[in-house]
Amino acid sequence: MPNKPLLLLDDSELADVVGPPAFRVRQVRRWLYEAAETDPREMTDLPASVRERLAGIGVGSLRTVDTRIGDGGQTVKWLHDASGEVVETVLMRYPDRATVCVSSQAGCAMGCPFCATGQGGFGRQLEAGEIVEQVLVAARHLGERVGNVVFMGMGEPLANYAAVVDAIRRLHDHCGIGARRITVSTIGIPDRIRSLSRDVPPLTLAWSLHAPDDALRDELVPPNRRWPIREVVAALGDWRAAGGRRITIEYTLVAGVNDAPGLAPEVAAIARTLEAHVNCIAMNPTGNPRYVPSPPETVRDFVDALREAGANATLRRNRGADIDAACGQLARSRPAK
Ligand code: SAH
Ligand code: SF4
Repeated sequence: MPNKPLLLLDDSELADVVGPPAFRVRQVRRWLYEAAETDPREMTDLPASVRERLAGIGVGSLRTVDTRIGDGGQTVKWLHDASGEVVETVLMRYPDRATVCVSSQAGCAMGCPFCATGQGGFGRQLEAGEIVEQVLVAARHLGERVGNVVFMGMGEPLANYAAVVDAIRRLHDHCGIGARRITVSTIGIPDRIRSLSRDVPPLTLAWSLHAPDDALRDELVPPNRRWPIREVVAALGDWRAAGGRRITIEYTLVAGVNDAPGLAPEVAAIARTLEAHVNCIAMNPTGNPRYVPSPPETVRDFVDALREAGANATLRRNRGADIDAACGQLARSRPAK
């Protein structure tokens, strides 16, 4: 009997557990993913002997240690204990859909100074099953399937490539989440962007740009020293040429650092080259005094300047700031007891 819970097993491991006939694997997956069932004894279309065996293994590996509700019930943040590491997941409900923001790593090694996750350092890679389980916890809370999944929680998804690709395939194949409703947000790792277009169905890619020149981006996104803007732009161009969907450029506005209207034409030029859409967001505070949010009028002026320079630009609304669940506010902290 494996000592891993069901959600962490691949198909052949699961087949060993449930035995023949072969369709049992699919049946168990359907229970786990569509019904988000946590007790194998409830999987009543399986023989009792198989149910007992499954019950002895357990379904998931995340243990929820805290649930916070914000935005009048429209945003939920979970803190899960993943074998000793804290992993955060955020559910955002909108009138017509629900989006789950998942973590791909416990912590992050990239060190962006305006991001709470980056300041907390790296814990460990998450397994595919641990990523998928975050979506299942949210689906159980909702009482229905999740509409969209965004890899915008803790961690750099392309730095945990194999597990993220596996999780995307499972979400797509087993949970019925269409590729176009999955978004991977990345600082931009060129060879991984190129392989992603081959390894998964056509999902949405969001590139965290935050500065239009290398000197400034070296400060805001330190891995830029290794993968400078022009190399990421080339990889994103290949992604588009390979049939990839329209790219989103993310631009977090930090007061006095990257919010001068004079930078907007340079950002717009990059966006035009890639036929990308620019999503601006005012930075969420994380406690670092050097990096604070741009005032609302500066943010609006920047978006206007982008549009004047010919970019397709929008302003993203902040969600979850009242429960520290907004972008960049996810830290490896334990909940206060
Ligand atoms: N590591 C990936 C995905 C997780 S971060 C990435 O960086 O793209 C998701 C988004 O939140 C990124 O665009 C990131 O730059 C942004 N972000 C980080 N800290 C933030 C903060 N304090 N305020 C607003 N956005 C932030
Ligand atoms: Fe990591 Fe993304 Fe935060 Fe940078 S912004 S430290 S890449 S999670």
